[in-house]
Amino acid sequence: MTKEVVEPGAVVGMLGGGQLGAMFASTARRMGYHVAVWDPDPEAPAHRIAKHSFTTAFSDLPSREQFANIVQATTLEWENVPAELCGWLEARRPMRPSSMVLRTLQDRIAQKQFLSSRQLSVAPFAVVESAKQLDEAIARLGFPVVCKTATSGYDGKGQWILRTFADVKRLERILGQAESLQRWIVEQFIVFVRELSVLVVRNESGEVRVYPVVENRHEQGILRETRVPAPINSGTAEQAKELSLQAVAALQGIGVFCVELFHTEDGSLLINEIAPRPHNSGHYTLDACSVSQFEQQVRVTCALPLGEIRLLSPAVMVNLIGEEVRSVMSAEGCSSLHSTSGAVLHLYGKQLIRPGRKMGHVTFTGPHEELVAAVAQKFMVNLGRPA
Ligand code: AMP
Repeated sequence: MTKEVVEPGAVVGMLGGGQLGAMFASTARRMGYHVAVWDPDPEAPAHRIAKHSFTTAFSDLPSREQFANIVQATTLEWENVPAELCGWLEARRPMRPSSMVLRTLQDRIAQKQFLSSRQLSVAPFAVVESAKQLDEAIARLGFPVVCKTATSGYDGKGQWILRTFADVKRLERILGQAESLQRWIVEQFIVFVRELSVLVVRNESGEVRVYPVVENRHEQGILRETRVPAPINSGTAEQAKELSLQAVAALQGIGVFCVELFHTEDGSLLINEIAPRPHNSGHYTLDACSVSQFEQQVRVTCALPLGEIRLLSPAVMVNLIGEEVRSVMSAEGCSSLHSTSGAVLHLYGKQLIRPGRKMGHVTFTGPHEELVAAVAQKFMVNLGRPA
């Protein structure tokens, strides 16, 4: 496939139209491109910024033809778009990341098997397709375990922590009949000190860029806050970057990748999962870096040189989840935020507020880490989060 530069003025394809697709589309427009967004949900945020909108099912064959005729290159904003569609598109125009990488990463089992086959550290795991195998996995791994659907899970959905046999029975009841369990991955529950993530960008010319290591705090499987730089020593930061680079290189990944890691008490790092796209934990790059994760995605997709990464300021990114967004929607709330030095508000324009739904985020930057942390903390306490 050609490595020819896609020139400004051309149309770039985006599969998926959520906030990540919207941030990509805004950035692409600033860089002189038009964007064709394909997302079956007509309310998806990225449609508002798109020059061409496709709202048919991904399986719609005439739409495929139309989409492929318009775009010069395509990328994606979430890993659950059909790999088969990506394969079909990449036979015609560059698709970054490739359908092969997508196939490996969109299935948690394939992903973990790939990583462990390359001696890249992951939590001990078992593949489970029946109640009997679940029992065997628990016997081998020991309680507690985390049971995850092989495909389609995100933000803690399709995920259960099992601590006792009573939990196992409850899960089996929830799922109907234990004998008809689908494909699951059961992982040892890792007692981590902190969660980290690393963004890695690779293009087809062999250029590689790595962003600073960030610390993430999740609650109920949903990212709440990201802090950069992560509060770890330089040796651990180098190890985290090296492990992430190795993983993306092993995949021969072309695109923007987010490698999520567990940092354990004994100092080891384990890969939790890899996303083949910009990530929520990289949103801070819009306001605190010389080049954002979305600009890198435009650059890779269009076969442009990658941007040099400089962290311009320490940052804390706070997600606005569900009802929390109301705190910045009132005249008083948004005025108070906009008068806070270093606070940048991003609202995704989603009409419906649902529990657990990511509605927006705020990035706090400032002259030093303690100040940024204190300002962000005050904001989070106002949101009702634990101090
Ligand atoms: P995931 O969807 O796999 O990224 O999981 C979402 C969140 O659940 C992670 O960020 C962790 O906070 C938690 N989690 C997932 N897997 C494990 C595990 N094996 N041990 C402990 N916590 C986990």
